[in-house]
Amino acid sequence: MPSENTIHMRGGVITERDPEFCTIRTRIPAGIITPDMLRGIADIAERYKAPYAHITTRQTLELPHIPHDRLDDISSDLSDIGTPVGSERDEVVNVTACPGIDRCVFANIDSLSLAREIDRRLFGKEMPVKIRIAISGCPNACTSPMLNEIGIIGRIEPLRTPGVCTGCGTCVEYCREGAISIKKGISVLDTSKCIQCGTCVRSCPFNLLKSSGEHYLISVGGRRGRHPRIGKELIIVNSEEAVVDVVEKVVQWVYRRAWSGRLLSEQLDDIQFGKFKEDIREQIQASSIVDIVQ
Ligand code: SF4
Ligand code: SF4
Ligand code: SF4
Repeated sequence: MPSENTIHMRGGVITERDPEFCTIRTRIPAGIITPDMLRGIADIAERYKAPYAHITTRQTLELPHIPHDRLDDISSDLSDIGTPVGSERDEVVNVTACPGIDRCVFANIDSLSLAREIDRRLFGKEMPVKIRIAISGCPNACTSPMLNEIGIIGRIEPLRTPGVCTGCGTCVEYCREGAISIKKGISVLDTSKCIQCGTCVRSCPFNLLKSSGEHYLISVGGRRGRHPRIGKELIIVNSEEAVVDVVEKVVQWVYRRAWSGRLLSEQLDDIQFGKFKEDIREQIQASSIVDIVQ
């Protein structure tokens, strides 16, 4: 059997049903794999006789059926191509993200750069509970951020600017929430229905709808699994730097205050989410780089 403090203790090494073999999960923030990494993984899969690579729900790749006596070698080879052994236990695990403004027409934020920065600061940190972080560039929420311990959604608040609204109704047609109507010949926004997706801002042919810039809604305490739960809104901030600061503070709070063996969402219920929120927001207010939007 494997001894303590070996490669077997790493979170990305998962013992299989047949305990003679392990699956190796890799660290690939936001699932972004360059052609060189793909070639490298294919070479490593062949070298270690992994019959296939499996794409995981956390946007990483894992290689199955690796014998125990080859774990150190494969770990070293995976590091060499930039996809080192990842994490799966009570740690900060692979950060997931949608394409964001790199490719998606609906995006309000750069999901990929945010994922890389959070990964750089926090990936693999040992925690009392597993911390999953997911980022979506708009409220379509393709990576289900609200079902993660920490979720981030990019939003844009539409603002009507002075000018001659023709009442053409284009923005009304584009808004899927029914939040815009034409009254007395001009567009009127119902903020209670608006989810700040930003679609109307991009739709106005006369450029009359603007935004005050991108916002980031951060939620905490979501989860998938047996008893899924939607995370609760913690804060809205207006820069990538501020998001990273908030996420670090939440992770530090969990590291110091949470205990193992119980899901974070349940622990937040016990201490009451409102108290947790107050605690974190107090810390954030003391930070010079975080400008709280809401
Ligand atoms: S969440 Fe929004 S920005 Fe991200 S892929 Fe989906 S639609 Fe595009
Ligand atoms: S931001 Fe989205 S939800 Fe809000 S009014 Fe514009 S299209 Fe509708
Ligand atoms: S798309 Fe622009 S011009 Fe047309 S109704 Fe909306 S705000 Fe007015």
